[in-house]
Parts: sequence; structure tokens; C-alpha cells
Amino acid sequence: MKTLSPQEKARLLESIRDIPDFPKPGILFKDITTLLNDAEAFGLLMNHLADRYRDADIDFVAGIESRGFIFGAALADRLGAGFVPIRKKGKLPGTTIAEKYALEYGFDEIEMHIDAFREKEGARVLLIDDLIATGGTAEAAVKLIRAAKGSCVEACFLIDLTFLGGRKKVEPLASVYAVLEVA
Ligand code: AMP
Repeated sequence: MKTLSPQEKARLLESIRDIPDFPKPGILFKDITTLLNDAEAFGLLMNHLADRYRDADIDFVAGIESRGFIFGAALADRLGAGFVPIRKKGKLPGTTIAEKYALEYGFDEIEMHIDAFREKEGARVLLIDDLIATGGTAEAAVKLIRAAKGSCVEACFLIDLTFLGGRKKVEPLASVYAVLEVA
């Protein structure tokens, strides 16, 4: 499967803005809105993702709330796949399955509709989010895909904050791909 050239990676990286101390002191927030409003960078990213997964027989792209919705829905349309939202607890109206995961203090929970894969057993699902940090959210999302009898073909991120080691949490469950690695 295809990867980007160093020049293309640099172009994407420079389109992402760092916001220090957001949403709380000590966090360097990776703001992808400056990639989204840069048509050339957004196009470069989406062309790359479409190239990478075009022949992977993806039935559904599952995006994690909320930035995973943006990339996931655009990619699903390009691949001729369905789009499935994975949302924070209490947002989805139908019957859901849920998965809890640990935060620094306490727990959080994400949900997916139980019939999200339209009863297609072994549905080939690509998971997508903008960023993997500790990996807790993505690990829970892969578990949801499996609980709904889907097969997670790959968990795909625009950015991997490699110093947090989140990839290690997900790799036992699914292959992991990050377009950009930030050390
Ligand atoms: P985690 O479960 O720790 O891997 O956190 C991943 C989720 O938190 C993703 O949905 C990210 O969008 C968000 N996130 C965590 N850290 C950052 C960061 N430094 N900049 C932007 N988003 C982040």
C-alpha cells in the first residue's frame, strides 16, 4: 500500500497548526482546521488515502467523533463505501453497543449503532481518526467494530504522537497506519 514522499509529508505537516495549552495547560493541540481550509493540502491527503485503500475492498469507513467524521465521510464517498459514526456516549439515537476506556483520570465511553454494518457479517471496516495519542479511543473503537462482527482492516490516523506509544495498544487488534509521525 502506498505511502507519501518526504516532500508531501512536509507539505501536510506545515499545514497543521500547533496550539499550545489547549484544551488545558501542557497539551500541544494539533489543529487540523488549517489543513482542511488549505484546499491543496486537503486534496493531497484525500488523494493519498483514496490511493492507499482503493483496492482494499472496504465496505465501511468508521470515523471517530468528531474530526474522524470529516476525513472518514470524504474517504468513504471516494471509496464507494458506507460511513459509520463512532460517537461519544448518548449521542446516537438507535440501539447502540458501547465500549469504555480509561483516561488520565476516570473513564470515557464511545458508542456505535448495533446495526451499523447492515447485518453484513465480516464487513471490511477501515477505522479513521485525525490523531492517535495514548491509543485508548482507537483501541475501544476497534473493539466496537469487532463486537458488531466487522473486521477492522486498518486503523488509520493523520498524525501519530509517537512519544505517547498509542500504536502499541491498537496493534494487537488491528494494523495501524499513520500518515505523519510526530516525535
Ligand atoms: P487517545 O485516546 O489518547 O489516543 O486520544 C485520541 C483522541 O483525542 C483523538 O480523537 C484526538 O483527536 C484527540 N487528541 C488527543 N491529543 C490530541 C492533541 N495533542 N491534539 C489534537 N487532538 C488530540
